[in-house]
Formats: sequence, structure tokens, C-alpha cells
Amino acid sequence: MNLEGKAPLPMPAPRQVDPQALAHEIVERLTYRIGKNATAAKPHDWLHAVILSIRDRVIDAWIKSTQKTYEEQGRRVYYLSLEFLIGRLMRDAASNMEMLDDVQAALDSLGVDLDIIAELEPDAALGNGGLGRLAACFMESMATVDVPAYGYGIRYVNGMFRQEISEGWQVELPETWLAHGNPWEFERREASYEIGFGGRVDPSEDENASLHQMRWRPAERVIATPYDTPIVGWRGGRVNTLRLWEAQPIDPILLDRFNAGDHLGALAESNRAEALTRVLYPADSSPAGQELRLRQEYFFSSASLQDIVRRHVQYFRDIHTLPEKAAIQLNDTHPAVAVAELMRILLDDHGLDFDEAWDITRRTFSYTNHTLLPEALESWPVPLFERLLPRHMQIVYAINSRLLGEARRSGKFDDHAIGTISLIDEGGERRVRMGNLAFAGSHSINGVSALHTDLMKQTVFADLHRLYPARINNKTNGVTFRRWLMQCNHGLFELIREAIGDRFMDDPEALRELDRFAADSAFQDKFAAVKHANKAALSNLLRQRVNARIDPSALFDIQIKRIHEYKRQFLNIIEAVSLYDQIRSHPEKDWVPRVKLFGGKAASSYHNAKLIIKLANDVARAVNHDPAVQGLLKIQFVPNYNVSMAEMMIPAADLSEQISTAGMEASGTGNMKFAVNGALTIGTLDGANVEMRDHVGEENIVIFGLTAAQVNERRAKGYDPREVIAQSRELAQALAAISSGVFSPDDPTRYKDLVQGIYDHDWFMVAADFESYSSAQRRVDALWQEPSRWIEMAVHNVARMGWFSSDRTIREYAADIWKVP
Ligand SMILES: *Cc1c(COP(=O)(O)O)cnc(C)c1O
Repeated sequence: MNLEGKAPLPMPAPRQVDPQALAHEIVERLTYRIGKNATAAKPHDWLHAVILSIRDRVIDAWIKSTQKTYEEQGRRVYYLSLEFLIGRLMRDAASNMEMLDDVQAALDSLGVDLDIIAELEPDAALGNGGLGRLAACFMESMATVDVPAYGYGIRYVNGMFRQEISEGWQVELPETWLAHGNPWEFERREASYEIGFGGRVDPSEDENASLHQMRWRPAERVIATPYDTPIVGWRGGRVNTLRLWEAQPIDPILLDRFNAGDHLGALAESNRAEALTRVLYPADSSPAGQELRLRQEYFFSSASLQDIVRRHVQYFRDIHTLPEKAAIQLNDTHPAVAVAELMRILLDDHGLDFDEAWDITRRTFSYTNHTLLPEALESWPVPLFERLLPRHMQIVYAINSRLLGEARRSGKFDDHAIGTISLIDEGGERRVRMGNLAFAGSHSINGVSALHTDLMKQTVFADLHRLYPARINNKTNGVTFRRWLMQCNHGLFELIREAIGDRFMDDPEALRELDRFAADSAFQDKFAAVKHANKAALSNLLRQRVNARIDPSALFDIQIKRIHEYKRQFLNIIEAVSLYDQIRSHPEKDWVPRVKLFGGKAASSYHNAKLIIKLANDVARAVNHDPAVQGLLKIQFVPNYNVSMAEMMIPAADLSEQISTAGMEASGTGNMKFAVNGALTIGTLDGANVEMRDHVGEENIVIFGLTAAQVNERRAKGYDPREVIAQSRELAQALAAISSGVFSPDDPTRYKDLVQGIYDHDWFMVAADFESYSSAQRRVDALWQEPSRWIEMAVHNVARMGWFSSDRTIREYAADIWKVP
């Protein structure tokens, strides 16, 4: 089936949606597509049959959308991302197709429990964290606001690793999300491309070839085959395509070798190709320095670019109009090599001259920056880049000489500044700077929160910004409220509808009408009941999963996100140790019962992050077994944090921990999900927390700690953590306890170096912010003791978070960057 509509063909009659017809359809799918009857069917079979029934309706809408896009001949958006953290799709698709209630009723009539089979759908974890989840929210919002878009990425056979906790340590296991097949995807062999690596570059043989036209003869080739997944927008208005590439060998087996007895050698090429799309690099905010990672980046960029150019030329027959018909968004620098790839296609395959090609390229691309951490700025050693992509290396040099020429002629820069603008880092081992390449090759460079965008102008891209002052702009992140409110928090969703009607379902800013109910005691009681039910559900889940006993009436204080020093889970744990100490010293005080929940994965090579997981578990064991704090403090690390776990935990949170060192979290999106689900935030003025404070009101959020400017100032003045620690008895005691092995009697020096890092440099300002954080936590306790006030604040949070819908973000991208109506 070719979805890229040609002439309008007869469409099948619209399917009926009523529970009885649907039940019939589900049984039919079960019988004829799965080959079982209702008595023999296992829960997995039911799940499959239900998905097929939903899918058929999605396909009807998909074909219509594709047809419409084709007829309109407008600009399409291509979102290139190495990560799409989409999670489960069944509820999302059914709910957006407005058939969830019917599915539920149909299954009820068949005696099948929707919740049970929904749990069996694998959680597609093709991403690490926030960046990948943003791409997933954007796909849903682009379909919702009717932007014709394709997402391009990699179909990792094993996505993000599954995390188990063994004796408190993280253990990484492969995720086998495709084990039972994937009913959502369609293989499209007809749209496969060859991807080359290595080899040599010859002058073009064409006599009319332009100066820059060359012929690349790769030494190695693999096939990229796409798998398409339909992404449904709200109310099914538009269905876009997520196209994920899989690597396949050109020859599945070398038969001559096999017949000669070399069985392994015969499969070597095949294994090598397949290894390319096997795993997602489990590195969040830091570059994976492996050759395989660069191969993955080029593989999916090249396949996507070939696909985009092929589609364009097929429809419009003129490569020069590409920028009018295609807007390509680079999600961070992972696909930045696409800039050089498009140049290669335009120069070598289409024979354009350099200026023309460069103009087309820059008008087509835009780039989103996600991090300012110096260690996370992607760059590749020149020798590696040259060996793997010899033609692209030439193109990078050619772009660079043009770029540096422009910079010199502007007269604005000294030699040092020219050095920072260069695409090649000449300090030490020469490296290709992917951020500079993405910047140079794009007409728009955006940050993901107001603060982050400001800092971007002042730091990483200061000189490039002076050269091209109109390019940097801000697009504050958002999240899709369909998944992160309507689906994950059914109780709150129904309560809101009952209070203010349905308008917020199409316009999240209409949540503002809830403000009127914030102090209404009848509404407050219902709000509290919903929150309590969500907490009880989480408590049950944690009892099943990790045998934890958690009292749903305690304050649920949750920090879930990747484990990283800048996110400061360590600060949270130190504060917990200090609180534990204070409760033991003053058992007579009126302590607020608290449950502290942690969750998150550590990159496999990130030693300190893994140690922080172990520390959380070590402290939890000590605290949870101490009768002196029973009922007052409980700590639990929740294994394998992923989208599905987030969907359970966020609706159950009272307090959301967003405590990164100011200036280091680009935006955060977890912060938004919690607030819209009625948690209060304890946070620093970092990333989008700043804008959240502006929206919810400073009286409805608990802010503490140094600002980004103050962090800089402290560092510039020569920050001495020892001085700070000496002035805080609580901090000194907590650090001493951790360092001396109170929580690790089996290995007393386990945390010595971790704590020493705080004394020696404390790069992440844990000590500097400790007192402020600790007193903010006591303010939280005081608020909790006035339940009505707490709920009033929480309701204001829900009411005022509408702006953080990813629909708003996408409308801004569409209007300012992509210029699509
Ligand atoms: C939202 C989300 C994130 C991002 O969380 P931050 O707190 O913004 O870092 C990471 N992982 C999952 C599974 C998410 O749903």
C-alpha cells in the first residue's frame, strides 16, 4: 500500500464505532489475523486483536491525511531525532480516536479487562529521557495542530536498557520490546536506501561537473529500510508518520563462504549491518564517543535526507524549491551531519554550485539546542570523521572556509573568537564540532526555555550569535496534555470536566477556569479524593513490584528523571539523611509523614550516577528499618523508570523535585507534567521552572537556591565549599555520616570519594544550596499542615499550566521557524 496519495481512490466505507460492532470486530481480528478463538486466546492475543481494531480506524484517517497533504502541496515538516520515547501507544491512539470508552465497553462485553491487557503492551523506550520524550510529545502535537510532519529516527531492536536493582546497584538488561511483534508498524521495503561508509572520493567524471562536484566511492554499504508508525492527533484529525530506519545487509549471507565451510564469516557482514540499529546509546547529556554512534547518526541522517529529497523531486520535479516544501528540524546535534549530507546530495547528485547548495541547505534546516554542558557538546575526532565520511569531511572544510571568511570580513572578531566559530576545534586533537555545523547550516537555532536561550547567547554560541544575531530564538518546551493529564490521570480529568466543562480538552489554556474552584471546599474535597486514589494505586503497584509498604496518606515527594550530578539527586538524599537525623534527635516534634520516591536510570559508564542509585538504596534500607522513624519517613527507589512508570507516579505526586543547579537544566518537562497533575514544585530558578513560576504565581511554587547568575558569580569569586560546610552543622553531619559508612557498613569507604567531591570542588553547588533547600523543605512541611491551603495552591498549578502544552510550543515552531500555516 502506498500512502503517498496519487489519484483519489475509492475509500472503504467509514467503520462503525459502537461497542457491539467493535466487540464483533475484535473477535474477527482474533480469529482471522491471530488464528485463535475466544476460548483459546491469551491476554496477549486479545491485546493484539484490540490494537488491530483500533489500527484499522487509524489507517483510514492516515490515508486521508496523506492524501490531504499531497493535495495541498504545502510545506512539510521533518523532525529528525535519534530518540523517540513514545511509550505505549494503544491508549493514546484509542483515546485520540475517541473510541476508548467503546473499546472498554466492547471488552467488558467479552469479559476481557482492558487494564490488564493494556499493561502487556511493551513500552517503546527508544529514548533516554527528556529529549526523546519531547520528540514524542511533538509528534502528537504536530498531528493535533494539523502540521503535516514526518518524524525520522532509528528503530532500535533493543531500545533503552531495562533497569533492575540488585542489592541496591543498577543492573542493565536488554529491553526486548519487539519480542511479540509490533502491530503498530509497517515495513516499507520499497522505500529502502543504500547508505555508504568509508572509501575514497574521486573527481566527478562528468565533463560539465562543477568545481565542487565529486564522486564518493564508499567501501562499505548497508541498506536502510523504514518502518512506519502512524501517530494520531487529538480527535483523529490528522495522522502523521513516524518513520524509523532499520539497517539490513546488502547480502543476508555470503553463500560462497558458507558453502566453503566458513559459517560465521558468511554471516559477518549481516551481523555487522544489524548491529548498527541494535541499541540506543544509553548516554543522557553526554556524547557517546564510539564510532558506532557516529555511524548511527550518519545512517539515519542519510536515509532520511535521501527520502526527503526523493519525495520532493518526485512531486515537484525541481530541487531548487526544496526549502519551500521541506522544513527539517534537527533535534540536538545528533543529526547535524545531515547538513553535510544534504550538501553532498545537492553538489554531487544534483550538480548544483556551492553557493546555491549552501543557500538551499540553510533555508531548509533549523536546529534545537538541548544542553550547554561543555562535556555534552558533541564533537568527533577529525581522523575518525574523515575515515568514515571522507566526502563529508571535504564538505565540512569547504563550509568552514566560507564561514570563517564571512566572520573575518565582518571585522567583529579577533583570532580567538574566529577559533570558537570554526567548525574544527583546533585545541589538542582536532575535532569536528557538531553544534557549530548545525548552527552554520541552519536559519534558526532555538533554545528550549527563556533562560536556556539567554545563556546560549552568552556562552556556547556567543560568537556565532554575534555573527548571525537574527538566528537564535526561544521555544519553551511543552508536554501533550492528552497523555500527561487526560489519559494518565482519569480521576482528575473527570473532575475538571465536571467543574469547567470540555473546552480545556481542545484548549489547555481553558484550564484557567479552574482558578475559581481553588478555594471551594467541596471541590477541594473531591480534588483531595482523586489525589488520594492515585496515591493508593501507586502504593498498590509498588507493593506488587518491589514489596514496598507505603501509606497513601503521607506526603508523596517524588524525584524521577535521569540520574545526573547536575540534577542533584544527591542533594535530595543528603537532605533526607539530615531529616532522618533530626527526626531521631527530636521525635517529639510534629513531623510531617513523608514518602520520598526516587526513580531514574544512570548511563552505564557514569560511575557517580550509579553510586547515587546505590546510595539512595542504602539510605532507604537504613531509614526504612529504623523503628524510630516508622510512619514518618520512608524512602523507596523505584526500578526501571520509563514512560509507563511516569504515568503512574506523576498523578500520585504531592511534591515534585526540580532541583538542578541553576543554569544547567535546559528546560525540563517532568516539571510541567507534575504541576499539571496537581503537585507543588520545590525547585530552583532553572530551565522552565522560571516560566512556571511566572505562570502559576510565586505564591504557588516553592523556590530556593542560587540563581544562574549567582552560581556564575560564586564560581568566578572562587567558591569554597569547605567554608559553607563549616557553617552548617546539619550538612556537615549528613556528609560525615555518608562518608564514614553509616549507610554502607559492608563497605565503609563506598561513598568517601563522592563526598570528597563536595568538599573539594562541589561543581554542582550542592553545599551552597543545602541550607536554602532544607529550609524550603520545612516550608513545604508547614504548608502540608494546612491541607486546604495546600490544595488551593495545587489547584492553581493545574489551572495555570495550560501554556505549557506542547500544542502551544508546536504552534510557535510552525509560525516562527517552519512557516507552515
Ligand atoms: C518527562 C520524562 C523525562 C524528562 O524528565 P525531566 O525531569 O524533565 O528530566 C524523562 N523520562 C521520562 C520517562 C519522562 O516521561
